[in-house]
Amino acid sequence: MNYTIKKELLPRFLLSLGKNFEVIAPVKEYARPPSFEIFKGQELFLDERTTFSAKKFFRPSKEKIFSFKKDKASFEISPEIDTTKRVLFGIRPCGTHALQALDQLFVKFFGEDQFYSSRRKNTIIIALQCSKACKNGFCTSLGTSQAVGYDILFLERGADFFVKAETEAGKDLLDAEFFKHTSDAEPSFNLECEKNLETKDLGKNLYANFNHPVWKQESERCLSCSSCTQICPTCYCYRLNDDFVFGSDTESERNRTWDSCQLKRFTKVAGNHVFRPSRKGRLRQFVLHKFSYYEENHGTHLCVGCGRCITTCPVEIDLTFIANKIQKDVSEGKK
Ligand code: SF4
Ligand code: SF4
Repeated sequence: MNYTIKKELLPRFLLSLGKNFEVIAPVKEYARPPSFEIFKGQELFLDERTTFSAKKFFRPSKEKIFSFKKDKASFEISPEIDTTKRVLFGIRPCGTHALQALDQLFVKFFGEDQFYSSRRKNTIIIALQCSKACKNGFCTSLGTSQAVGYDILFLERGADFFVKAETEAGKDLLDAEFFKHTSDAEPSFNLECEKNLETKDLGKNLYANFNHPVWKQESERCLSCSSCTQICPTCYCYRLNDDFVFGSDTESERNRTWDSCQLKRFTKVAGNHVFRPSRKGRLRQFVLHKFSYYEENHGTHLCVGCGRCITTCPVEIDLTFIANKIQKDVSEGKK
């Protein structure tokens, strides 16, 4: 069943969901870059994908895994599973593909991560189809320009949104106060991304060109700031810390915090050995993980073509430039 809602009613609809859910939406607040935040009536940002993705609502930048408490006779461990009921509105197609990649890792491949899967199960997804290409995106090259795995899909149509409910949980949200049935055909959009990536044999060719000069050339300006990995919706490296609870000598907590393969200390192991000391090696790891190593294990890429890493890099390092350079040299028979 399909519906429509007037665009001007959207903020009121989202606020009405707030009675039963924590509502997450793309917003523009103060001078900050657009990001997904808890919606309390801020200005919605619907122009294109946000600068920051919605990843933090499934894998927070810092999350308490459990706390532990010791007294004379016992030792207690209490896991901290987040069961908040959420509605995530406005995630773009590339974002829905990023969630599929995280599901593949944290529900299937590594075994079920309860902290992640609880947030996933308790979140209703309302995706928003892109009607135009965003800056630096290349989703059309990677086949991630159509949303997947959503409960409801919104599509722009003049002064309305055309709305498709895919699941019962989604349909239950579509209150007649805001939504009207429609038998109109679904709108379609012809996206033309400004960047293209040649994906034929991409993983194989990048790996075969481990020593191509482009790695050195591009990494010479890399600052190892880690912005590319922090902003990426599919990057998932983390570290675990046992932290004291301030003011207590019997309680402590284990926290999981985002980490980054772009930081030198990330590869520091026992004996102070750093196994990826060069910027070249770390940049190459980022790109090869996205297009070669992940593909080897999962049959697809760990990049959804959102272009966030390109936009955010302070020295304009662009993984499509690196990949296309190698692809071109391979097709021309150069190494
Ligand atoms: S690697 Fe870059 S383009 Fe690909 S998903 Fe991550 S941020 Fe987006
Ligand atoms: S954002 Fe750019 S400069 Fe910073 S670590 Fe990534 S590639 Fe290097």
